[in-house]
Amino acid sequence: MASLFDTSELRSFRAEVRAFIHEHLPAEFAAKTRAGLHLHRDVVGRWQGILNRRGWGAPHWPLSAGGTGWDTYRRYIFEEECALADAPPGDVLGLFLAGPMLIAAGSEAQRTRYLPGILAGCEFWCQGFSEPNAGSDLASLKTTARRDGDHWVINGQKTWLTEGHQADLMFCLARTDDSVKPQAGLSQFIVDMKAPGISLQPILTMDEGHSVNAVFLDNVRVPGENLIGEPNRGWTYAKELLTRERTNNAQAPRTKRDIIALQRLAEAHPGPDGRPLMDDPIVRDRLAGLTADFVALESAVLSVLADEMAGREPGPEASILKIRGSELQQRVTETAMELLGEAGVVLEPGYGGGPRDPVARGWVERHLFRRVVTIYAGSNEIQRTIIARTILGM
Ligand SMILES: Cc1cc2nc3c(=O)[nH]c(=O)nc-3n(C[C@H](O)[C@H](O)[C@H](O)COP(=O)(O)OP(=O)(O)OC[C@H]3O[C@@H](n4cnc5c(N)ncnc54)[C@H](O)[C@@H]3O)c2cc1C
Repeated sequence: MASLFDTSELRSFRAEVRAFIHEHLPAEFAAKTRAGLHLHRDVVGRWQGILNRRGWGAPHWPLSAGGTGWDTYRRYIFEEECALADAPPGDVLGLFLAGPMLIAAGSEAQRTRYLPGILAGCEFWCQGFSEPNAGSDLASLKTTARRDGDHWVINGQKTWLTEGHQADLMFCLARTDDSVKPQAGLSQFIVDMKAPGISLQPILTMDEGHSVNAVFLDNVRVPGENLIGEPNRGWTYAKELLTRERTNNAQAPRTKRDIIALQRLAEAHPGPDGRPLMDDPIVRDRLAGLTADFVALESAVLSVLADEMAGREPGPEASILKIRGSELQQRVTETAMELLGEAGVVLEPGYGGGPRDPVARGWVERHLFRRVVTIYAGSNEIQRTIIARTILGM
């Protein structure tokens, strides 16, 4: 696929990033990233540390907070090169959610205490928003935080916490006032995952991997200074954060990597007549369709990122990116399953299956796990309602 950015300056920037990754990315990290989805924090953290020592720990943060000062195109090229090289993805929850929220709404003391750990890849975060009966209807959440002297006491149950079992800290949305309308009585707290009263239960997903958890909070005492921003403003911070999460979830660079891998798969894998699948015009047509839709997605992501650079927060267009990006991710792995045929239905050893044809490695797990991308970060049905209301005025 041809790149959209082709100035000589950007070409030399790309070459610099590519050379750095080539020299510093351990081959075992790339192999682990290629083979699966749920990476251990050690791998993610060590790669984050390598990038941070080069000054590239959080390209999308403001320069004053440890960012790189790169423009939108450079940030995108950097992400793209990392994805194409199968570098481990950064800790999305710290780098894209907790960090930006603390930069925007946290206290100076919180920024000093927590941002360095995210940048260095030694402290990991999880997001404690959803509850068993509060997902799409998040504002109905029941977890409470009550003031007790100079502490808050939190009680409730959170669910679906991505990487909760690997996290040191949680940003947790809890009800601090139930006398007002639901959205107006919520606050956000930084919670130490080792605090007394916290317990976790793993939830296994369809790919038989463990990345999500139920978390129970039983009289968890949180110091007063761990309130993020102002009390009862938690919903406002959450909305800003969910918008960022949706833009990030378009996952365009990694989808590009997957489409390239899909092309390689079609070149390497024989069809029923023994010839490479790529010789089949129907297969070529499918791949061309995915590539065209990818280019459209990439342009839309870049335009939202350019707005962000100009100081405009993304609005409902983030919902369009969420829908198009997540559906494309699913179509890519669905196509892989069709191309692989029987080779695609064998699970990894340890998950009840035999050895996998190397060409199929990672595809089945990705295909199964990617059922979630149209659900999390706000389901696609909810995003369609946002678009209908705010863009179409319905
Ligand atoms: C793998 C995974 C990881 C996750 N990670 C996290 C995390 O780290 N932290 C966190 O806080 N949460 C996390 N979530 C939770 C996620 O945000 C919620 O699952 C999501 O918001 C949907 O909520 P729900 O599961 O309660 O489904 P529900 O809200 O019960 O929805 C069920 C179905 O009904 C549809 N629906 C609901 N309301 C409407 C409506 N008004 N109009 C039309 N259709 C509607 C939905 O689209 C969906 O199809 C994760 C979820 C998954 C699956």
